[in-house]
Amino acid sequence: MTPRMHRSHRVAGALVGSAVGDALGAPFEFGPPGRFSTRFRSPARGAKTEMCGGGSLGWEPGEFTDDTQMALLVATSLVERSGLDETDVFDRFRAWAEAGPPDIGNQTRAVLGSGRPWDVAAAEHFAHSGHAAGNGSLMRTTPAAIRFSREGRQATMDAARRISALTHGDPSAGEGCAILHELMRVALDGGDPLAAIPTSLEAVLPEHRERWAAVLAPDWTPGQATESNGAVWPTLGQAVWALRHGRDFAEVLRLVIDLGGDTDTVACVAGGLAGAVYGMGGIPSRWASVVHGRVPGHGDKVWRLADLQQLAAALDGGVQQNYDPGVIPRIGPTEVLPGIWAGNLDGARYSEEDFAVISLCRLGEPFPHPLHRMAYIADNEHNADLDVMLADVLDDMAALQDEGRRLLVHCHGGASRTGLVLRGWLVREKGMSVEEATAHVAERWPHLGLWNDSFTTALERLAAKTN
Ligand SMILES: [Mg+2]
Repeated sequence: MTPRMHRSHRVAGALVGSAVGDALGAPFEFGPPGRFSTRFRSPARGAKTEMCGGGSLGWEPGEFTDDTQMALLVATSLVERSGLDETDVFDRFRAWAEAGPPDIGNQTRAVLGSGRPWDVAAAEHFAHSGHAAGNGSLMRTTPAAIRFSREGRQATMDAARRISALTHGDPSAGEGCAILHELMRVALDGGDPLAAIPTSLEAVLPEHRERWAAVLAPDWTPGQATESNGAVWPTLGQAVWALRHGRDFAEVLRLVIDLGGDTDTVACVAGGLAGAVYGMGGIPSRWASVVHGRVPGHGDKVWRLADLQQLAAALDGGVQQNYDPGVIPRIGPTEVLPGIWAGNLDGARYSEEDFAVISLCRLGEPFPHPLHRMAYIADNEHNADLDVMLADVLDDMAALQDEGRRLLVHCHGGASRTGLVLRGWLVREKGMSVEEATAHVAERWPHLGLWNDSFTTALERLAAKTN
């Protein structure tokens, strides 16, 4: 039996998933429907992946946009202020807007640039423009949805409305954020967010309920949208539709980016929800490994995968501390199988930079290798999504080897997790039994560790599926 997924995997999945969606969708912003799957007919697992960068704003591959930048402003405020301090969030937003981010929504720019105080700026803008139901507040909801998820439906929905109102005076936007918070709360608890739609609609302000019920109905399709997906209703409608129809994280994102239009934002929203449902292990490592970006007006720090994971844990009440593995005696790299080297953490960190590195543990400081995939497999019995992660790693290795790259697989000690992947490779690519694969690796890699029974069980399942 596979263990129940640990909440921390869902929390990390939500925050990383939203940033991944943002970065994955950014190059396709304002393009026509179908462009993503036309360009990527099958999963792109080699050196060049679907994280392709570009678009009208020239994003780097894996670089997130204003959606995640604003989400990080909310997130850091919530953590540093130990809760919601609207003045502080608004000040952070304003410093960001003044620093000239590459992208910023029209309405957000108008409100933050108005010079008016936090508690009136958005309302005044709405009162004289009448336009405020863009998706610019919905796109940044994930951090607060994590932070308030433990406080129950009412509290998380209220927090959503208050944060939305900082830039979006139209309560329609606030109600959308409130619904998303509630769906996320249910997903982080291990429930089915789709099944929670009726109860979340009951908690929506009555005058907004009908319009939200329409776009969240099980039979609603994106073709029925009455506005572009720059508006809040179709953005959440499309994200939920994709979650309903996709079979895994990657398919949810492909479906939603293929709708075209405001692709970074719809994918950011869908990615947050899908990340909460499928967990960190459900996010393809070729996407999560490269996600990164800066937050203008808030220092030079480049946010990467490990930073997002730590921040997610802090939002959920954990401790935010930098992981420092210290210096350990190097093991490897050693060529254990043809074209596949093995090592421990520092053996890999200081290896030649043309290795395609597959990391299976936490790293501390990032490696210098340009081609680096990170799949966090814990060396314990609690990997609920181990089969999915193992298949993802092995598929990437096969694609990278087909491109002629030297592979270097490592974990902290180079023993147990590294052994899992080396043995899995032999089971899947060479058709060996688990016993044969284990003996084969043990002969060539004296560091092999066999103490984790859940790994051997996973290999038995892989063998049954393969052979
Ligand atoms: Mg954006």
